[in-house]
Amino acid sequence: MPGLMQDWSLTCTRILDHAARNHPGREIVSRSVEGPIHRTTYAEMHARALQLAKRLQADGIREGDRVATLAWNTWRHMEVWYGLLGIGAVYHTVNPRLFPDQIAWIINHAEDRFLFIDLTFLPIVEKIRPQLASIEKIIVLSDAAHLPESSLDLVPYEEWLAESDGDFAWVELDENAAAGMCYTSGTTGNPKGVVYSHRSNVLHAMAASVPDMLGLSARDRVMPVVPFFHANGWSLAFSSPLSGSAMVMPGPRMDGEAIWELLDSERVSLTAAVPTVWLMLLQYLEKSGKALPHLDRVVIGGSACPRAITKAFEEVYDVRVKHAWGMTEMSPLGTVCAIKEEVAELAGEAMLDLQEKQGIAPFTVEMKVTGDDDDERPWDGRTFGRLKVRGPAVSRAYFKEEDAAVLDGEGFFETGDVAHIDAQGYMQITDRAKDVIKSGGEWISTIDLENLALLHPDVAEAAVIGIAHPQWDERPLLVIVPKDGTQPDKASIMAVFEGRVAKWWMPNDVEFVDEIPHTATGKIKKTALREQFSGYAFDA
Ligand code: AMP
Repeated sequence: MPGLMQDWSLTCTRILDHAARNHPGREIVSRSVEGPIHRTTYAEMHARALQLAKRLQADGIREGDRVATLAWNTWRHMEVWYGLLGIGAVYHTVNPRLFPDQIAWIINHAEDRFLFIDLTFLPIVEKIRPQLASIEKIIVLSDAAHLPESSLDLVPYEEWLAESDGDFAWVELDENAAAGMCYTSGTTGNPKGVVYSHRSNVLHAMAASVPDMLGLSARDRVMPVVPFFHANGWSLAFSSPLSGSAMVMPGPRMDGEAIWELLDSERVSLTAAVPTVWLMLLQYLEKSGKALPHLDRVVIGGSACPRAITKAFEEVYDVRVKHAWGMTEMSPLGTVCAIKEEVAELAGEAMLDLQEKQGIAPFTVEMKVTGDDDDERPWDGRTFGRLKVRGPAVSRAYFKEEDAAVLDGEGFFETGDVAHIDAQGYMQITDRAKDVIKSGGEWISTIDLENLALLHPDVAEAAVIGIAHPQWDERPLLVIVPKDGTQPDKASIMAVFEGRVAKWWMPNDVEFVDEIPHTATGKIKKTALREQFSGYAFDA
């Protein structure tokens, strides 16, 4: 017997329709690439996205065509997403922090037809233009007055857009059609194209908005510092309008001072980014003596959130930390460390212990942890294994690799992370599967050791890698970047681990470096670090 409810497809443009109708005057404030602060509303963005959809169609962009963006978070970038979505084309956010050759590889692999760029990225595009065989048009997200001299044939966005009126209706689409693409950073091999559907984006945005995830509302002013090109922009370009939240976008400036200025002047209530961004903000606050009177919640993910960051936000600035875990293949949010009733009474160090966990899954994300035998491990908060996930916003294949199996027999996707889950459902990542140290047949979590090293007052950044060992197979080496102007000694660093980890987890040695290599999304690049220390041997 069929249900008698309406057939209302879950397409992304319904989100902007909803925001424009129900929250028409809600603001979208951006620091523009040209410099000044720009203000618009959901109603205006809706009108411009319709105009853009019509303009794209007039230029021959059709359903299923991929269109790339190399752009910061601004109102223009967001309306480009919705304009493309409205004609069934696919937004493809490209990470400008990748090497130019990788950018070219990704654009060619996706066979993008148009390329929207911010002025900032013109030098990169000038360099790789000859390699971009599929790109027919390069549109600069600015106006003619700001277009510099260039060897390229550039189209100014505003004038190009003005050639169309907004008299348009979104194209009717299957909710399972492709909506967006994002390539994973891939520390080994070529990047892989993750393809979101309209349905997955809508379901994910709904799941991401509930109180124990981001908890967005029409009273929030949300600042996505995490770039749209990083893991689907953590869905904030969907979850914010879906919730009627105002948006504040940092554009090209992501230094501590610039972030603070917007948090303060725009009364931002929730913001989201990777730990390195928050480290910069906290350093700025400490130096300048500024405070965060308006900020209520900060979402921290992309890599493990160091305890010191959580402690500073919670205890010094009275801001609630939402530690989040996810990945490009999960649209991307997988868990948030929400505070359940059972743990609400925890305080001080015990609460900080809890907040080191990546958290609980929302409806739409199923998790399990398996051992090398593929058997499920118990949810006891101790037994670690491979973390696998299943759900309507989790990848089942990669672009142009549809036949390659990436799911297990039960349809779970292997995240590549190692984790344990406790009886309350709190998951904690202990490592990337390829980074975990195997010592004497047991596993040592490099993330736990890195977090502990950061408790030392003179440690700015810490990374732990496994070094081949004749007796134990592998043993941990701790690599430290000291804070400016300090020279911590090995003994005081090793003392941090005393009593906090089992003896056999203690790093065998400490090395000091000026810099630790990072990936284009700000994660520690362990492959490069392992290369740097290849041939390293511990003193006998
Ligand atoms: P990406 O697809 O580039 O966002 O990378 C996803 C990977 O980042 C995950 O599989 C984890 O290894 C790592 N990651 C993301 N969030 C966290 C977190 N809160 N703690 C530890 N690792 C994280």
